[in-house]
Amino acid sequence: MMNTRDLFIRSSLRCTTQRVALFDTLRKCKSHPTAEELFRMVKPGMVSLSLATVYNTLDTLCEAGLAQKLPTPNGTCRYDANTSEHLHIRIKDTGEIRDVPEELGCRLMEQLSKTVLNEIEREMDITIDGVSIQLIGRKAYTRL
Ligand SMILES: [Zn+2]
Repeated sequence: MMNTRDLFIRSSLRCTTQRVALFDTLRKCKSHPTAEELFRMVKPGMVSLSLATVYNTLDTLCEAGLAQKLPTPNGTCRYDANTSEHLHIRIKDTGEIRDVPEELGCRLMEQLSKTVLNEIEREMDITIDGVSIQLIGRKAYTRL
């Protein structure tokens, strides 16, 4: 994985300490945090950090293509530092969004009917550039 400073330089982003800390934390995080959650994770080690800076940084990262915004039904957005195409599952109990294991996500995507996709393109006179699927689930309580 390319280090954050090199990625920022390549994307012509200024390497401020706060930006680097926020992006590093977002990259390590598996739950696709909201801006507030990310703020609470980084704030203890960075007293001067404000929530406004977190929002501004996340906007900047999304514009630079280093992160993506994931809208949720309650209107808050979650953020993902993985901008490659991958499948998400939203856990209803906790609201968190998790990545579906890549191999399983690929297998599911392969099952999508090319015939139907082509029909959608023809019928709606559009070109489909990508597919974004979000699964919705809840924690399963399996017995021992
Ligand atoms: Zn993700």
